[in-house]
Amino acid sequence: MKAVVAGSPGQVEWIEVGEPTVEPGGVLLRPLACGICSTDVKLVRAGYSGGPRYALGHELVGEVVDVGEGAKWQIGDRVATAPYVPCGDCYYCRHGQPTLCPHLFENSLHPGGLAERVAVPKALAERGLFPLPSSLSVEMAALAEPIGCCVQAVEACHVTAVDSVLVVGDGPMGLMNAAVAGACGARPVIVAGMTPHRLAVAREHYADAVVNVNDQDLRQRVADLTEGRGADVVIVAVSSAEAVESGLTALRPGGVLNAFAGVPQGTTITLDLRQLHYQQIHLTGSFGVGPEHVKQALRLLSEGQVDARPLITGVFPFERTAEAVAHVADQAGLKAVVVFE
Ligand SMILES: [Zn+2]
Ligand SMILES: [Zn+2]
Repeated sequence: MKAVVAGSPGQVEWIEVGEPTVEPGGVLLRPLACGICSTDVKLVRAGYSGGPRYALGHELVGEVVDVGEGAKWQIGDRVATAPYVPCGDCYYCRHGQPTLCPHLFENSLHPGGLAERVAVPKALAERGLFPLPSSLSVEMAALAEPIGCCVQAVEACHVTAVDSVLVVGDGPMGLMNAAVAGACGARPVIVAGMTPHRLAVAREHYADAVVNVNDQDLRQRVADLTEGRGADVVIVAVSSAEAVESGLTALRPGGVLNAFAGVPQGTTITLDLRQLHYQQIHLTGSFGVGPEHVKQALRLLSEGQVDARPLITGVFPFERTAEAVAHVADQAGLKAVVVFE
């Protein structure tokens, strides 16, 4: 069968791999839709550097086409997937921090979402697959995983209906964080970025106000929108130290900042310790997604509390995966989803 992997730097490559086998309790999926994540773009840019080759894609919706002995699913079931599940039993899992589980990636989609067949091991089949709500298209449901990441971030910041939330970043993850914060009742939700067409989508669908940081002062604009205080919660969905530092300038005393975007090793920020001590701010981060977050994201999507349609700006057939990756890499639109025959 065919799978899409990272090739030479900047290129995707199609390779022929053996069809994965189903283990007892696990299932085999025929992909229906798979979102392209900035993580996939990162892997493609870096290129293949040896070792086993995993398929790109982890935002997967599929149909069960084979089941292992004792599996809880049936052939024909349509499911949204968490890309991995924590063990449920280690120190971190028992402390309710699933994405710190050291075994997180031991139960994951194989060989990855962008392949003709995807094996789901037992633990993932049992705890990380969710029935596709009938109200959702497969493209929309493919966003359950990234939106689940935002559910985790919004949870980490304890966002409630009395909070103002600033999202730094107007990419797909920034807009999804704004959408989830809005679904929690946060007001105002403010999105800061530097891409006019993305800020326009944010303003129309997900934010009460937007700030173009190329020509507006972030701290001042957020102060104006929050009675001079600054935002209760700041979520930084841009992979840079400067973005976190500018987010800190717009955070109110006692507020919470979440470093949402992954950053390269060695990335450091300058923090005025007086802001931590006297202004008693909270610094958090969130990485990845737990199965419960994917489940909640599906609920937000199926109940219409998060409308993902404006986020999906490119739908490409499996054969044109390279274009889907380019669509995300070029930042021409927002989110690209690959669909399968
Ligand atoms: Zn992703
Ligand atoms: Zn664990």
